[in-house]
Order: sequence, then C-alpha cells, then structure tokens
Amino acid sequence: MNSGGAASQHRRQSRRPCFPYLSLILSFAVLVATVNGGEFTDSSSIISRFQQYLKINTAHPEPNYHKAADFIVSAANSLSLESQILEFAKGKPLVLLKWAGSDPTLPSVLLNSHTDVVPAEQEKWAHAPFDAHLDPSSGHIYARGSQDMKCVGLQYLEAIGKLQISGYRPIRTVYLSFVPDEEIGGHDGAEKFADSEVFKKMNVGIVLDEGLPSPTDNYRLFYAEKCPWWLVIKATGAPGHGAKLYDNTAMENLLKSIESVRRFRAAQFDLVKSGLKAEGEVISVNMVFLKAGTPSPTGFVMNLQPSEALAGFDIRVPPTADSASLERRIAEEWAPASRNMTFELGQFKQKVSVFDEFGKPILTSSDSSNPWWKLLEKAIRDANGKPGKPEIFPASTDARYFRERGLPAIGFSPMSNTPILLHDHNEFLNKDEYLKGIDIYESVIKAYASYADHQKDEASRDEL
Ligand SMILES: [Zn+2]
Repeated sequence: MNSGGAASQHRRQSRRPCFPYLSLILSFAVLVATVNGGEFTDSSSIISRFQQYLKINTAHPEPNYHKAADFIVSAANSLSLESQILEFAKGKPLVLLKWAGSDPTLPSVLLNSHTDVVPAEQEKWAHAPFDAHLDPSSGHIYARGSQDMKCVGLQYLEAIGKLQISGYRPIRTVYLSFVPDEEIGGHDGAEKFADSEVFKKMNVGIVLDEGLPSPTDNYRLFYAEKCPWWLVIKATGAPGHGAKLYDNTAMENLLKSIESVRRFRAAQFDLVKSGLKAEGEVISVNMVFLKAGTPSPTGFVMNLQPSEALAGFDIRVPPTADSASLERRIAEEWAPASRNMTFELGQFKQKVSVFDEFGKPILTSSDSSNPWWKLLEKAIRDANGKPGKPEIFPASTDARYFRERGLPAIGFSPMSNTPILLHDHNEFLNKDEYLKGIDIYESVIKAYASYADHQKDEASRDEL
C-alpha cells in the first residue's frame, strides 16, 4: 500500500541473466529434495523462512533490494521455478518467477507482491522491526513488512511448494512478480513492468495483489482503489489595509471555498456514518494546507490583507464516483472564476485517472461476469475461510497498473482476525494466521491454475 501515484517520466529496461545465488543457501534448498514433504511442510521451517525474509531490511530510503532478490531466487530455485531478474531502473531488481502450466495457450495467472517496506521508528517498537521476533506466548511475529506485504509474497511460494509435494501440476502458467518501489509509487517497479514487452508476452489473464487485514473472521477482497487527486486552489483579491471592510479579498474568497468543501466533506462522511455507503465508496476530501499572509520578522504583517491565499486538499475518488460532476463542482463551487479563484489542471499536484486506458472505470468486476472472482471466493471457502464482500481499497497499490491495462486484478492478503497495522508501529502477523494463509493460497492457486475456459463452456452446455 502507498499513499498515491503519479505518472512516470521515462522508461528503461535492462535485463540480466539470473545465476544461482550460492551465498544464500536457505532451508528452501533442501526442501524439494525431500519430496515426501515432511521437512517442507513442517510449520517451524515455514515460519523460520518467513522470519528470514522479514529480517532483510528493505525499508526506504535505502532498501536492500538485492538481498531480497537473492532470497527469492534461491527459494524459487529450490522449487524448480524459472526465474529472471528484470531491472527497469538501476538498483531496483524485479524478480519474475514462472511455474509453467501444461497449456501455454491459456492466459496466465500473475501473483504480485512488493519487496519494499516503509521505514520504521525503531524506538517506538516493542521489538526491533527487522528482528522478526516471534512472541512465544501470543505467536505474533513482529516485523515491518509482516502485513505489508512480505507475508503474501512468501505465502505464494510456500503454497506452490505444498502443491508440488501433493503432485499437482498447473494447467495455466503461474507467474510470480516480486516488485520494488511500491511504497514510493511503483513507478520503477510495477508500472514499468506492466508496460514492458516481457509483460505482454506473459499473456496475463488475472492478477492477485495486496489487500488489507481484517479484524473479523472475513477475508477482505478489493476490486478497485480510490484515485488520489491532490488539489491546490488559489484565491486572489485586491490587497488592502487590515482595518478596511471591502468585498472580494483573497482571504474572503478562499474562506467561501473552504466552507463549500467542508459541507461536501460532511455530506460524504454522513453517508458513511449512517451506514448507507462504505468508506471506500465515498469521495473523501481533507484540507492539508493553508498558505496566506505576508511574513514579517516576527511572524506576519497584521495590518495588511494579502492579495493571495492558497489551500491544498487531498481528495480520494472511487472509480465508481461521478468524476465529471466532481470536476464541475471544483470549477463552479470550490474555485469559481467569479470569485477570483483559480484551479487549473496544472494545479492538481496529482490526478490519477478514474478510467483505464480503454476509457472504462478502473475497476475489476466482482459479479458473475468475472469468473476469477467466483473462483477466488469458492477457493477461500474450500480452505475454510470466509470471503467478505467486495470493497474499494482506501489507498493506492500496484494493482492499478494492471487494472489500467484492462486486466482484472484483485487485492487480497489472507489475514483475518488481525488488526490493521500497515505502516504502523509494532506491525505483526500471528504465525497461525500466516500458516492458514498458505492453505488459502494453496486452494486459490490450484483453482486458478486449473481453470480452463473450456470447462466453463462445458458447464454452461450442461446447464442447457
Ligand atoms: Zn503494500
């Protein structure tokens, strides 16, 4: 999860071959040799592998991407997955793994996760954020990235390991991408990847990416995310003496706009409070800065009404909202030229489109038109999990780069009965939740990789 995203400026792609990383002989390496699976499925080895991944400090501003990439490649080697490292930006490796399916003509399944994490204020944590401390009484594993989202990346691999041991062979090809950079916008990771020739050749049919933990029994499933519009409005007016009453001052003009924004915000918030809409379904708007006044050595000049005043707003727009009407509202009520207000497209610090490249709202269908949604729900239930109702993600993730290309992408991190601690102090995941998540993915990956379109055809013929 990250705060938002802007368009990238340049594209560059290099590729280097992937060699076995002898420096990292992980417990993974011995596992697939023991094909009976005893050691692989042993939960203490699974937890210890998770801890090893968590201990790699991939926090911004200096994430140790190469160590994380080595770890993933080494794990992939032990599972006999094909691997390659792509570097769309220097020093930012993206690990791409492939589990080849028996029918390469079918669109593939992509399991995405990011390797970077946000920084942690070590002194505010009960356990050091990169120690991956396992509390013996609670079973909680404390680490930055335990929820967001090293858990998911490694759960994919563990699930594949279990499927291999069970003798399962995929029909569809399954790819896994471990991308850098998500926490700072994903521009050198998922964005360039989704735009690359390599990606095109993968013929991806469905993407799974991160979701959020759920404090209840239900797993949370996300079909879209809010698009950040960072708006700056500027009011101008004649300057004047601080003692004079006159119309159309910059401050007066700005205050009227702020009042109008405030009313809109309250109305959206009321929809959430009354339960009529979920938080993801409304437009949120929060004022994040105010800038006005004439500075003086001791503060601000007090007897002068300034000629300019600015305010900034963080607006989050769900793709299901009427964005054209919001744009009209901005132009007519929040920053009307009639009140000497300006807002130009250039004054959006950021404006992520609510439409994909085909002009459709950037969301993944969660109804019967999308077989992947139903398959996911069923696979979760088959593994004794409870899928929640489809939601809109409140912030931004890499999933948008795949949705932008018209691909279905579902946000899902299998963490139930877990407090939401992404980016927070003392981020943790319980070891039993982690292990349960692997079983969930085992079921999901099997369902996805076994899904062949002709089965659907047969099923519908049977109904006829
Ligand atoms: Zn994340």
